Amino acid sequence: MPKLSVLGSTGSIGTQALEVSKLRGFEICALTANSSVEALERQIREYRPRLAALADEKKAAGLKIRVKDTGTRVLSGIDGVCECAGCEADTVLNSIVGMAGLRPTLAAIEAGSEIALANKETLVAAGELVTSAAKEKGVRILPVDSEHSAIFQSLQGCADHSEIKRIILTASGGPFFGMNGDELSRVTLAQALKHPNWSMGAKITVDSATMMNKGLELIEAVWLFGVSPSQVDIVIHRQSVVHSLVEYSDNSVIAQLGVPDMRIPIQYALTYPHRYPSPVRQLNLEEWGKLTFESPDYDLFPCINICRGAIEKGGLYPAAANSANEAANELFRQGKIGFLDIAGLVEAETEQAPAVSGYTIDDVLLLDECIRRRIFNKVVR
Ligand code: NAD
Ligand code: MG
Repeated sequence: MPKLSVLGSTGSIGTQALEVSKLRGFEICALTANSSVEALERQIREYRPRLAALADEKKAAGLKIRVKDTGTRVLSGIDGVCECAGCEADTVLNSIVGMAGLRPTLAAIEAGSEIALANKETLVAAGELVTSAAKEKGVRILPVDSEHSAIFQSLQGCADHSEIKRIILTASGGPFFGMNGDELSRVTLAQALKHPNWSMGAKITVDSATMMNKGLELIEAVWLFGVSPSQVDIVIHRQSVVHSLVEYSDNSVIAQLGVPDMRIPIQYALTYPHRYPSPVRQLNLEEWGKLTFESPDYDLFPCINICRGAIEKGGLYPAAANSANEAANELFRQGKIGFLDIAGLVEAETEQAPAVSGYTIDDVLLLDECIRRRIFNKVVR
């Protein structure tokens, strides 16, 4: 049986990944989470991993006592999470949210495991480091994000990536699509957390509302598929049925479709290049009737173009955009800033980023710390 480790196993993607892995009969090597003691204890009892870790050290001490009878070794802190990532599973699915996933991704690559990547922030902040480490180790990075899985699936059979003309990322538009600036200035957290098509963790749900998620995905596509930023277009597709498209040099366009359900891309990343039956329901096109496509409003949702500008400039600019967004997104969720302040903070920090090329992981982590501190000081006085 293939061996799998799931990082961020208690989250929205993590729990669905475990559901898929159970159906496919994977053996679970390691499970990690941030602080959810009870959820991780339940998973340890069900999946019996060799290793488990909580990033929160105090909570890890509690978990250790609770699962003493199981034979699972409990580790703690970011080092514990990295040790779990490096436990030489065949595949490590990283569904940690945010920059906290970066060191674990690198640890899993170092151990030679294949990476099933949901943690897009890792590629946005350090795309150069992550992709070159994977190349050096001969490790594949398989996309879990639905759009990137769709692109990856649409690229099967493409012998030469120079035949790709354009990648078209679809975007649902989030809960605030069609609002004007005045309405956007008054939206609440509760409204931002109501995504029309997907049920996801809070951070990515807010990113979908600001459309920062699509900006992050643009950068993710550049690193995963080796295209230039100008080759990535974005189209609003409210129904989330066409998950993304590839346009080839002959203007033929290949897309992947399916009902919006993350268990399809998760399973494909875990079983690639094979396909198996899945619990996801069939796509019945007559039921949908009409699929619509339109342009995003880049003025009302400036995060997309901030990300496009950042990846065009390269270096640490994308890392700055990502870190500023993580801090601003968190402050919005804490009710400390308004919805439109998020893009303002992301823009200000991205403009100020140091123009460094050939950055190291320490540069990325230090920049992250500085930006978070600056934003928290600016807002929470
Ligand atoms: P979530 O908030 O539901 O789960 C996050 C997981 O990460 C949890 O297990 C949590 O314990 C763990 N975690 C949080 N902070 C941590 C830390 N500091 N150290 C270690 N572990 C930590 O999030 P999610 O919606 O499952 O998203 C996870 C990732 O997948 C994100 O990068 C997101 O952008 C991406 N993604 C999610 C979806 C989706 O449908 N939810 C779709 C595409 C991509
Ligand atoms: Mg996505």
